[in-house]
Amino acid sequence: MKNDASHATFLNDLKSALPPAALRDPAPRYLHEPRGRWTGHACAIVAPETAGQAASALRLAAAAGVPVVPFGGGTGLVGGQVADGGAAPLLISLERMTRIRAIYPDENAMVVEAGAILSDVHDAASAAGRLFPLSIAAKGSARIGGLLATNAGGVNVLRYGNARDLCLGLEVVMPSGDIWHGLKRLRKDNTGYDLRNLLIGSEGTLGLITAATLKLAPRPAGEGTALIVVDSPAAALKLLALARDHMGEGVSAFELMHRQCLAFLAETMPQVRQPFADPPEWFVLIDVGLARGLDPAGALAALFADALSAGLASDGLIAQSEAQRADFWSLRESVPEANRHIGSVSSHDVSLPLGAVAEFIERGAEVIGAIGQFRINCFGHLGDGNLHYNVFPMPGHSRADHEDQRDTIKRAVHDLVHDMEGSVSAEHGIGRLKVEDLERYADPAKLAAMRAIKAALDPQGIMNPGAVLRVP
Ligand SMILES: Cc1cc2nc3c(=O)[nH]c(=O)nc-3n(C[C@H](O)[C@H](O)[C@H](O)COP(=O)(O)OP(=O)(O)OC[C@H]3O[C@@H](n4cnc5c(N)ncnc54)[C@H](O)[C@@H]3O)c2cc1C
Repeated sequence: MKNDASHATFLNDLKSALPPAALRDPAPRYLHEPRGRWTGHACAIVAPETAGQAASALRLAAAAGVPVVPFGGGTGLVGGQVADGGAAPLLISLERMTRIRAIYPDENAMVVEAGAILSDVHDAASAAGRLFPLSIAAKGSARIGGLLATNAGGVNVLRYGNARDLCLGLEVVMPSGDIWHGLKRLRKDNTGYDLRNLLIGSEGTLGLITAATLKLAPRPAGEGTALIVVDSPAAALKLLALARDHMGEGVSAFELMHRQCLAFLAETMPQVRQPFADPPEWFVLIDVGLARGLDPAGALAALFADALSAGLASDGLIAQSEAQRADFWSLRESVPEANRHIGSVSSHDVSLPLGAVAEFIERGAEVIGAIGQFRINCFGHLGDGNLHYNVFPMPGHSRADHEDQRDTIKRAVHDLVHDMEGSVSAEHGIGRLKVEDLERYADPAKLAAMRAIKAALDPQGIMNPGAVLRVP
């Protein structure tokens, strides 16, 4: 934006181009992110109702050189949706584009607008007798556009893949204001560069997603859940292989947890039912969903018996009711909140090749031990090689006591992950939080290609500047 006069002209043009209902007041919910790390600013906030209105807004922003920040449910954890520096941007919220445009149960596909809330998409798929398998704890607030823009994962990636794997097509307003009509329902389409997969995971830096064709799955006829005690993460991985031998793709989730999870839950959330009288060092939550005619509890019992005789498991609980399944899941899903109550010194969401997970956990403890005395809470989506590796102060200390060690810890953990050919961002993306990490760890040729793509698609650099890539 060049001066006050052109700023006023831009705002006037915006008001003329959009209906009054599309103009939003700058409420705090648009400018704060869930962990309170950033406070954003905006010169205007609009909530278009159609892709055409979104395109008009973007075209005006491009003409005036005003940055644009796409905004979904505001649940992102890396600051991608919160611009805290540079020129005040136009924030485009998808909150009024929430329609389910079409469902094709026989094709296992549905077309939804980018502002649809994940739990509403679940409900719509379910009403059509189908499953949309992407699920995260923020499903009541996160919107489809945001989930695709961050390539969200969650607990069912093991079986169904992440957001990228669950998308067949996109409708996108490009930085020029042109609309790319890519809402195909094709499983095979080899017509040149894959724009869809480029836009997914681009965190609002290459375009504004306004609708998507999503892939659905059959609903499992029966589901079962078990907690199984294992000797070590290495044994847990062998158990996963055994579970897949038994049930193939029926294994929907496989979550590793350490005794520290139980200790933090006991300390901060005593209302969460503790399943073990004597808390084990390591255990897994395994969730299965099977087709008609198969008995999930029986299949889990057979797996447990084999795991016992192979020396992979020493104890276990198989849920006997839906209420008990919910209890087991509540244990897993409450861990992030318990962690928040304790207050981590440094948190890491990393992924590793499956074969390197056990060694990483051992070496990680050594690396942290060399820095100082800390408690480590390591848990996560083991089936995806995705660990939440979080470092906490010892009892009687607080995170503030270790302020000066945070960067050292983060660097040490991320260096180890990188050495072991892992990723320092398994879920959530880069946003504004991990720009330096991307610069440090990304392959130079990849980084150069990313910068070239950004320059080609968004030559003015107006789409979410400062997210993913540093402003040149
Ligand atoms: C409690 C909780 C649990 C979570 N659990 C998981 C988890 O298990 N797995 C996981 O992967 N993630 C998880 N997340 C993070 C998750 O990735 C994001 O919450 C979600 O994907 C973002 O959706 P949103 O609609 O809130 O997007 P926002 O937070 O609004 O935006 C996120 C990013 O996407 C961009 N964006 C938003 N909408 C669009 C659009 N229409 N077009 C282009 N860009 C857009 C924004 O500019 C920003 O860069 C969790 C978050 C919370 C708060």
